[in-house]
Amino acid sequence: MPERFDIVVVGGGAAGLVAAVSGARRGASVAVLERLPRTGKKLLATGGGRGNLLNENLAAPAFTSSDPGLVASVLDRFGTAEIRAFFEGLGLRLRTEEDGRVYPATNQAASILKVLELEVGRLGVSVKADFEAADITTSSGGFSVASAAGRTVEARAVILAGGGKSYPALGANGSCYALAGRFGHHIVPPVPSAVPLLVKDPMCHALQGQKLMVRAVSLIAGQAGQKAAGELLFAQYGLSGTAALDVSESLSIAVNRDSKKDAAVIVDLVPFMSEEDLAAELSRRVEAGWPAKDLGAGLLPEKFALVMPQFIEDAGASAGNMSHGEAGRRLAVALKSKKFAVLGTRGWNEAEFTSGGVDACEVKHRTLESKLRKGLYFAGEVLDVQGGRGGYNLAWAWASGFVAGLME
Ligand SMILES: Cc1cc2nc3c(=O)[nH]c(=O)nc-3n(C[C@H](O)[C@H](O)[C@H](O)COP(=O)(O)OP(=O)(O)OC[C@H]3O[C@@H](n4cnc5c(N)ncnc54)[C@H](O)[C@@H]3O)c2cc1C
Repeated sequence: MPERFDIVVVGGGAAGLVAAVSGARRGASVAVLERLPRTGKKLLATGGGRGNLLNENLAAPAFTSSDPGLVASVLDRFGTAEIRAFFEGLGLRLRTEEDGRVYPATNQAASILKVLELEVGRLGVSVKADFEAADITTSSGGFSVASAAGRTVEARAVILAGGGKSYPALGANGSCYALAGRFGHHIVPPVPSAVPLLVKDPMCHALQGQKLMVRAVSLIAGQAGQKAAGELLFAQYGLSGTAALDVSESLSIAVNRDSKKDAAVIVDLVPFMSEEDLAAELSRRVEAGWPAKDLGAGLLPEKFALVMPQFIEDAGASAGNMSHGEAGRRLAVALKSKKFAVLGTRGWNEAEFTSGGVDACEVKHRTLESKLRKGLYFAGEVLDVQGGRGGYNLAWAWASGFVAGLME
């Protein structure tokens, strides 16, 4: 006879572990199925191993989703204060940075996983490792969940918390989409997000390895979209660094999901000067006869000398009969709004999260129960809900996991 539980949670990641705690604290018998040999593998890698588990500025507008109302409803029930209290109650001390990012005081993501695993153990949750849920069938008493190897568990309710598709080596492989699909759920096509950008521009190749602080904005069909300020890293294939990752969601949707051809990122390479001041400075340099390759000296990293002559030509700032003022102005405009056409993105192995997933419109706001099948719930990245980098995605995992476990 298969083992029987009140709740089976598919996925022992951030959302799944909190869902298990939430359910077990209400007195439910709970099993967590995890396809890897251990739970929480991705959690250990978060925040560069430091675990940026929350952001103090947590609010629904910081997320994109097919149903923004769902995010607002869940965060109303389990928002910043509740997430803090939950972890502090488990003994995890927290530290908040100036920009609102919250980390464990230990600076170790492993501390988050440890306190969760201790609580899961204390509550008697049955953790079944190396169990990949491959099939879910229904019966009058609820659900039967089976692995491809023939292991089976039964439950009155199932919480799908298997994550999205990013970083498959850390566990999530998109398998929960197919399980949700069995119950008629529609999947918003998943695309990699917080991901480096593929750009064809000789500048990237020439400057590969170079980092600099920039402002960036995505531009799709002429419409400005996501904005970011931070580090840009030039790579042989294109652009990486936090500034590129932070504008990548809208660009990935445009090129990978909607097959749009006119996607670009506009980069301000000299964000610490106004266009006017930069134009005046460059005009002065042109007038003083600085060599073309040195016109960016002291304003841009030295490696830019490799690309300045071409940059000046592309900016239309090299014509012989042009005034110094006009040449400086044109070059300033080009440096303040360098356009990189985006051809695509890097793949799932380099994407911090997934944009898309189970259509959030098909899930009840208060409980995260499926509108299509009673007793089926969702939590975490498996849903079409995504926050920016900075602690929002883990916050969603905790909040949705806790609410799904309540089942009321
Ligand atoms: C490198 C990296 C760094 C990140 N850093 C941060 C950060 O600092 N802050 C932040 O907020 N977010 C960060 N994120 C995003 C964040 O980690 C995820 O959004 C979050 O972990 C999602 O939680 P989840 O539980 O929904 O999915 P996951 O954490 O992916 O967990 C899903 C689990 O389900 C298991 N599973 C999947 N399918 C099945 C199945 N069929 N049967 C059984 N088990 C299954 C997987 O093995 C996995 O353990 C980062 C992501 C990456 C990749």
